Amino acid sequence: MTKRLLLIVLILSAGCTSGPQPEATGRIGVIVSILPQAEFVEKVGGDRVIVTVMIPPGASPHSYEPAPDQLIQVSTASLYCAVGSGIEFELGWMDRIISMNRDMAVIDCSKGIELISRDHDGDDHGGTNPHVWLSPRNAAIMVENIFQGLVAVDPDSVDYYTENKERYLQELETLDHRIREALPASLTKLIVYHPSWGYFCREYGLEEIPIEKEGKDPTPQDIARLIDLARKEHITVIFVSPQVNRQPAEVIAREIGGKVVLVDPLEKNYVENLFKVAQAFMEV
Ligand SMILES: [Zn+2]
Repeated sequence: MTKRLLLIVLILSAGCTSGPQPEATGRIGVIVSILPQAEFVEKVGGDRVIVTVMIPPGASPHSYEPAPDQLIQVSTASLYCAVGSGIEFELGWMDRIISMNRDMAVIDCSKGIELISRDHDGDDHGGTNPHVWLSPRNAAIMVENIFQGLVAVDPDSVDYYTENKERYLQELETLDHRIREALPASLTKLIVYHPSWGYFCREYGLEEIPIEKEGKDPTPQDIARLIDLARKEHITVIFVSPQVNRQPAEVIAREIGGKVVLVDPLEKNYVENLFKVAQAFMEV
């Protein structure tokens, strides 16, 4: 759908929207881009917030375009929590989203996180690795930023938000300790299809080796090189996200007599999911 058509559809349907509107429930309407952020906002905001996620389960933050009814949610929200680390969805849509609701506060959840430059991978397109939320310490910074945003739009609830935030930060700290203690020293390299785990790897001293380059499938030469590397390093597991094409990973796994294991960077249940992923990494 073209942008112009989308706007027309939006205007035509603005009068007949359904679903709970924030004013009607007395709750603060908060918009987030990805599911783990919805978890963070709900953990801090509790029953005082009503959260809308722009990128639905199964969709990719690298290519998703919002539906008209989602943009209507934007027009009545009080706060937008952007991931802020350069995900394509926000690069392409944030300006338009902001222009639809000038009263909405917008916060950058990545404020205070040291972003990983994509230049480190040797490509010259610049930009940053957007997958910041996948380290528990980064998640704690995001939760702190979300807390600040909620207090700014709803200062009366500061005590409630503070109590919730402290409880969740404790959970994130426990998660960090559990992962740190569980990861074996022998684990040093992970082959992944899509480079989602750069922040996780930086946090825990691992090296992420992505198959995909700049969102593109690998060339036959790339695949041959990865097969050599996997054999040399005795790597037998290739990790893929459910949102991407897993065929190149299957080819490599077959060649090295290994297997493909699914790990999801976008599951809502953050604490449980991240430990599950860490366990999958440990079984390499
Ligand atoms: Zn990604």
